Amino acid sequence: PGGFDVDAVRRDFPILQERVNGRQLVWLDNAATTQKPQQVIDRLAHFYQHENSNIHRAAHELAARATDAYEGARDTVARFLGAASSEEIIFVRGATEGINLVAKSWGAKHIGAGDEIIVSHLEHHANIVPWQQLAAEKGARLRVIPVDDTGQVLLDEYRKLLNPRTKLVAVTQVSNALGTIVPVHEIVALAKAVGARTLVDGAQSVSHLRVNVQALGADFFVFSGHKVFAPTGIGVVYGRRDVLEETPPWQGGGNMIADVTFERTVYQPPPARFEAGTGNIADAVGLGAALDYLQKLGLENVAKYEHDLLEYATHQLAPIPGLRLIGTALQKTSVLSFVLQGYQTEQIGKALNDEGIAVRSGHHCAQPILRRFGLEATVRPSLAFYNTCDEIDHLAAVVKRLAHRR
Ligand code: PMP
Repeated sequence: PGGFDVDAVRRDFPILQERVNGRQLVWLDNAATTQKPQQVIDRLAHFYQHENSNIHRAAHELAARATDAYEGARDTVARFLGAASSEEIIFVRGATEGINLVAKSWGAKHIGAGDEIIVSHLEHHANIVPWQQLAAEKGARLRVIPVDDTGQVLLDEYRKLLNPRTKLVAVTQVSNALGTIVPVHEIVALAKAVGARTLVDGAQSVSHLRVNVQALGADFFVFSGHKVFAPTGIGVVYGRRDVLEETPPWQGGGNMIADVTFERTVYQPPPARFEAGTGNIADAVGLGAALDYLQKLGLENVAKYEHDLLEYATHQLAPIPGLRLIGTALQKTSVLSFVLQGYQTEQIGKALNDEGIAVRSGHHCAQPILRRFGLEATVRPSLAFYNTCDEIDHLAAVVKRLAHRR
């Protein structure tokens, strides 16, 4: 793929020089987590060397530096997502905690007996279990948008599910198991037409596609830092201002209060209302650095490069005898899920690891969608912009060898 200097980009990621089993590491487990550029590693070190303090509460120089760095990262996230204001950005631990926050605060207040919550068949367990728990607690009903044989959601079936009892539609923008790009703009617009709130799980999308939450129109949007070249333990909930205003706090403690007596507590406005206790300050700052890095590369350049790389990889893998690709939607990004006749998925994962190639094999925390295809597990190479055609050739060569040894 041309027009993108992948060699230069790779030099920013020191771990890509790592050797595994005597071979240079080939990191094709990007849907599980991404590697970190030196710029992010340096930013974390700088924070701990020059800025470390708790934020907001103390009136001294380092508290001011740490607060500026943390709030600066919030501004960066707001710009990255196209939010109207930084006050719509809540820092959490990751997408999982973000979805749980929405379920346990907004959901607990607004979902009642007989209400309906819609998810898609593609969801990660993180966007199924919290809604199932909420539905069980409230006597609400969880409904599922089916998918076709390519792994794309069926919009006509979705239309049939919508009705005045629909209170929330929660869908992923990109499937972590298949790479399907879900038409979330249409899904959100149709939900709005029946007065339902919407949550979009951006865990797998923000590293591959330009997102603008205002154009999307979703009420909530969540993602995890570690899947977008930032540290683990930091993630984001975007909530539109008016929706956050109608959302009660979930955890109580310091930082989220305006005033406390033993009789009552007055809460802060959003976002502080949703950030009880000391947050993950350093990693939020690291997230800001990762998003700056990605903005500099240009998400459009990244998307084009990854599109070509996915095409290349698909053409290398698809013709291998006995190989079945799972997830063949026209709109897809950066994930190749497959099974190979005569092999358990773990055997393939192990054979690849012997060659220094890291892929995930298993159910990818998305059992319902794999079972839709009659499977309990797949092998899942997943791409990022620092992967190369040479790496794909290496992957394909190992899989081919296995196929012919069968
Ligand atoms: N949703 C999707 C689509 C995901 O791929 C993941 C992570 N695999 C999650 C949610 C959960 O993210 P985390 O584990 O970082 O909270």
